[in-house]
Amino acid sequence: MRIGFGFDVHRLVEGRDLWLGGIKIDHCLGLLGHSDADVLIHAICDALLGAANMRDIGYHFPDTDPRFKGADSKVLLREVVALIKGKGYSIGNIDATICAERPKINPHIERMQACLAEVMGIGPDQVSIKATTTERLGFTGREEGISAYAVCLVE
Ligand code: MG
Repeated sequence: MRIGFGFDVHRLVEGRDLWLGGIKIDHCLGLLGHSDADVLIHAICDALLGAANMRDIGYHFPDTDPRFKGADSKVLLREVVALIKGKGYSIGNIDATICAERPKINPHIERMQACLAEVMGIGPDQVSIKATTTERLGFTGREEGISAYAVCLVE
């Protein structure tokens, strides 16, 4: 068994859709990025790649590559799972935390779990997603961005 860790941040701006955990959430701000900027998926991708010692998401999907402009991060996650599978690993479990002041994440967690499990070809019980605010402190507290952390085990 091997452990992996991932972390990501994206800026919140007006005029973008908010994609988080593979689903679109209704909110007045969205995350800015070259792809759909799904910060949770990106943290999970980095955790999986890290567990397999296969560098990071930016290495495999550079933000200078026009192929990934506006990319659905679910496609990247599916590709990452294929990459680690190619090295002989399967996913044990994932545990992730989203840090956001708004919107409230909890009502969306079950849908995110189901979506991400389906994309990774694992059961929803293997994907734990948690949410916290940062008590109005820092950039997440000021709603300038959203961050996400993820750890995983691969076997
Ligand atoms: Mg990112």
